[in-house]
Amino acid sequence: MTGPVPKPWIMEIAPYVPGRATTDSGKKAIKLSSNENPLGTSPAARAAFEAASGTLERYPDASATDLRESLAARHGLDPARIIYGNGSDEVLHLAAGAFAGPGDEVIFVKYGFAVYEIAARRVGAVPVIAPDADYATDVDAILAAVTDRTRIIYVANPNNPTGTYASKDEIARLHAGLRPDILLVLDHAYAEYIDGQNDDGGMALAETASNVLVTRTFSKMYGLAAERIGWGYGAPALIEAMHRIRLPFSITIAGTAAALAALGDTEFVEHTRTHNAEWRRWFSDEIAKLGNAGLRPVPSQANFVLVLFEGALTAEVAYKGLMEAGYIVRWLPGQGLPHGLRITIGTEQETRGVAGVLRDLVERAG
Ligand SMILES: *Cc1c(COP(=O)(O)O)cnc(C)c1O
Repeated sequence: MTGPVPKPWIMEIAPYVPGRATTDSGKKAIKLSSNENPLGTSPAARAAFEAASGTLERYPDASATDLRESLAARHGLDPARIIYGNGSDEVLHLAAGAFAGPGDEVIFVKYGFAVYEIAARRVGAVPVIAPDADYATDVDAILAAVTDRTRIIYVANPNNPTGTYASKDEIARLHAGLRPDILLVLDHAYAEYIDGQNDDGGMALAETASNVLVTRTFSKMYGLAAERIGWGYGAPALIEAMHRIRLPFSITIAGTAAALAALGDTEFVEHTRTHNAEWRRWFSDEIAKLGNAGLRPVPSQANFVLVLFEGALTAEVAYKGLMEAGYIVRWLPGQGLPHGLRITIGTEQETRGVAGVLRDLVERAG
């Protein structure tokens, strides 16, 4: 007798590999592999989380009214058009679950977020990979990949793992080139980190277009990765369809309380943004100085930098050298980047430490 047989498309999924927290030898190290907030969490969010321990026996509010209304007030949005989930990962999955199925095509870029492929395959859809333009999102390549079967396009902006950013004009051009029945998902997990008022226009599109969903998260800038609060914004018909398949209680009371408090702590958010911008610039400059040795920083608008190794020092050797020195970064050979390391911007000390180790490794590689 054989057991239950998984659907064939499920067996084609390569499981998600999370950023590591321990070294090869099992030692705890400085974790710069998951783009978490190096400054921690807003103290107000921590206090709200602790206070929520008084209601452990209760189910959360399935309609997340407080969260939706606070987000709407903060961002000038309509609360009825907000969906929420167990991290924005759940919202990304809801989009695939509601709008793609067996035989449909889902497009994302070559160096894209690993969850898109899993979300597409999970529902039996076919992932279609659009080539990049020197690691950045190439709108023409995405448009060229569209067929009659295309149902969803996922674009992270800024993108992960490259950190690159597509301008408002580029996003508008992408949207204008799509049939109205194709859902454009703009993943804004790192939107808070972009320089200046350089908004990509995604929220305005989600407000006016029938086929744009913007996703956001409390995991990065707000320092709440542990609590899994993400959300999305789009036309009422999109939101209504996704609600039908949402797990009713996928966000928790404590997580919601922490998110509401984090939303109110604009000082913490500003501090994080300023810190990240300063050290992202410093770190990118330090890497650029190692250009003779073949190191190259991909221009980033996120809270990490993708460093390319195109000389004697390989990404693999640098990855291992950093690990020996106590820093865990992200090496992504499984995502077509055996020659790159994605490094989260840490505290000043951590960021200086990583740059110092890389300088030493370059010298040793001669
Ligand atoms: C981190 C990240 C997310 C957010 O994940 P959560 O589930 O909200 O923690 C979404 N998209 C991208 C591209 C990310 O890097």
